[in-house]
Amino acid sequence: MGDQNENKFLVPENWLKVEELKEGAPVKLVAAKCPACQAVFFPPFETCIRCGFSPCTRIASSTGNVYSYTNVHRAGPEFSVPYRAAYVLLDEGPLVFSQIVGKEEIAVGGRVRAVLGRLKDKEKGSGMWTYQFSPELPSAPGKGE
Ligand SMILES: [Zn+2]
Repeated sequence: MGDQNENKFLVPENWLKVEELKEGAPVKLVAAKCPACQAVFFPPFETCIRCGFSPCTRIASSTGNVYSYTNVHRAGPEFSVPYRAAYVLLDEGPLVFSQIVGKEEIAVGGRVRAVLGRLKDKEKGSGMWTYQFSPELPSAPGKGE
């Protein structure tokens, strides 16, 4: 309460397309795609990180598969543990790091969707907004595409 970071974003706002400022609301990650070499990367830059072409095109991404994850049991006092930290391979190509929210079981290869959430427990610490991932149901553990 009275948190000075309550309405701030952890990442620049032009990295995200936010529909509603609410925990769990769908959010899209704004990535960049190079028209010259087809590289897709997040966060987005004007200049291609692979070949140097400029300008790159903005594309939106919101779903992917769990690439790897871990259950975090020890963290700073402002975090609620345990939480799940994961690398998610977005359908468009970039590998991004974030938290997976919810109580559903997850597995490597499971489908997830980007949602808006708080980095830390709002009651205990900074409530800065960021992207997180939520399992997509029905999940298909162990099944990649
Ligand atoms: Zn390129």
